[in-house]
Amino acid sequence: MRRITLSNGKTVEVECLSCALTSGVMEPDGGTVIETEHFHAHQDVAYPIKGLMILASKRHIKCFDELTEEEKLDYIAILSKIRAAQRKILGIEHVYYFYNEDTTHHFHTWLVPRYDWMYQFGRSVESVRPVLLHARNHMNSEGNINTVMEAIQQLTKELN
Ligand SMILES: [Zn+2]
Repeated sequence: MRRITLSNGKTVEVECLSCALTSGVMEPDGGTVIETEHFHAHQDVAYPIKGLMILASKRHIKCFDELTEEEKLDYIAILSKIRAAQRKILGIEHVYYFYNEDTTHHFHTWLVPRYDWMYQFGRSVESVRPVLLHARNHMNSEGNINTVMEAIQQLTKELN
């Protein structure tokens, strides 16, 4: 079991954070953006970047080759649908997709929008972690959080 402190100060003990989120045991801040039979999308607002989405499988798997044929089709359909909404609603021109199999929780893909301010951390994959840490540590102003929450609502509306 892992003990996780939520942004509202409450502490929960879960076996797997992704399982807790995708099954509805834990409600992500900002809510569920879209849900299909096999996948669940939300934003981890601990990383306050407008339009950043996390797409997690509902099944507790770790590796790409564990997806069933049906899950593969669902995955690519929902991934591209979220991508289209990021472009249409938020004007996001480029997205970095990040997914690793040696995760402490389960199968989830980060869709990280690319904004001009991120170039101070370089381009490409080596910039992703510094960008996320910068957002987590330095972008928690009320104004930015409101912008992020508003984007979550706009994406949710577009996708449902
Ligand atoms: Zn899990």
